[in-house]
Amino acid sequence: MVNGNGVTRGRFAPSPTGTLHVGNLRTALVAWLGVVSEGGQMLVRVEDLDRVNSTRENENRQLADLERLGLTFPRPVWRQSERFDVYDAVVSDLSSRGLTYRCFCSRKDIRDAANAPHGRSPDRYPGTCRDLTEREIGDRVASGRPAAIRLRTEAEEYSFTDLVLGDSVGSVDDFVLRRNDGVPAYNLAVVVDDAHQGINQVVRGDDLASSTPRHLHLQRLLDLPSPRYAHVPLVMGGDGERLAKRHGAVTLDDLASRGVSTEAVVSVLLRSFGLPGSLDDARSTFDWRAIATGGWTIPEDWQTPAS
Ligand code: GLU
Repeated sequence: MVNGNGVTRGRFAPSPTGTLHVGNLRTALVAWLGVVSEGGQMLVRVEDLDRVNSTRENENRQLADLERLGLTFPRPVWRQSERFDVYDAVVSDLSSRGLTYRCFCSRKDIRDAANAPHGRSPDRYPGTCRDLTEREIGDRVASGRPAAIRLRTEAEEYSFTDLVLGDSVGSVDDFVLRRNDGVPAYNLAVVVDDAHQGINQVVRGDDLASSTPRHLHLQRLLDLPSPRYAHVPLVMGGDGERLAKRHGAVTLDDLASRGVSTEAVVSVLLRSFGLPGSLDDARSTFDWRAIATGGWTIPEDWQTPAS
C-alpha cells in the first residue's frame, strides 16, 4: 500500500466535470515534472465523486488532453466512483472509534449560524450538531432529515512545508466525511486514495492549500504516511479573477482554433514558471526552489477580445 521504495510517486487528480483549462494543464505540467525529474512516476486519478456533473466523455477528453501535452501516466486510471465501499469502510472505522457524529444541518442552517452575532467564519462548521442528545438525534431521524457524517476534531493545528508556498500552518474543523446524500467527501477520498496509491508528492491548485491540515489530521488518525505537498497558484483571466471559460481561449481546443499549437501552449505554460519552454529541457533542469511562485495571468492574445 505504502510506497516504501524511495521512488517519487505523484498524481494529478482532475474532476471530470468539464474540460481542463490552461490553469489545470499548467498544474498538471508541474506535477509531472516534479516527479519525472526525480525518476518517478505520475498517476492520474479521476475524482468523479460528483455523480451529477462528472461524465465519461469529460474524463476521456481530460486524459487525452494530458497526453497531448506530452505527459505520460499509466492506464487504467483509478476512478473514485468505483471505490465508495472503501471510503465507507474508513468512515465506519472512524465512527466505531467515536470520532464522528451525525450532522443534520442544511447549507442554510450553517450560513445562518455563521451570520449570527459572534458567528464563526462560514468556512468552519459552527458545531450545531456536535453534541446532540440521543433524543434530538432520534427526532431528526424520525422527521426524515438526512444526516451527513462529520469528523469530531479539537481545532488541531498543523504546519507543513509546502514545496511552493513554503512554511504553512492551518487548523482543522469538524469537516464532512460523508455527505447527507451518501456520497463520500473529497477530503476523505483524497487521503484514502493518496495512501492506497503510494503517493508521496501531491501537487494541486493553491485553492486547496487550506484543506491540507484536514488531510494531515486524517492521515494521523488513520496511521497513514503524509506526502509532500506543492500548491500551485491559480491562473487568472484578464480581469484578475480565477480563470474561467468566459476569459477567452482557455482549453487546448479553443487555442487550436485560434491557431495556437499545443507545443506553443506547453511552451508558454512552462515559461510562466520560469522554466525552459520545452518539456525535455524543463525536465532536465527542474528544481522546485526555482519555480516562479507568483500568480499568472493568461497572455493577452488568449483573452477574449474586448467587445
Ligand atoms: N479533484 C480536485 C480538483 O479537480 C483536485 C484534488 C487534489 O488534487 O487533491 O480540483
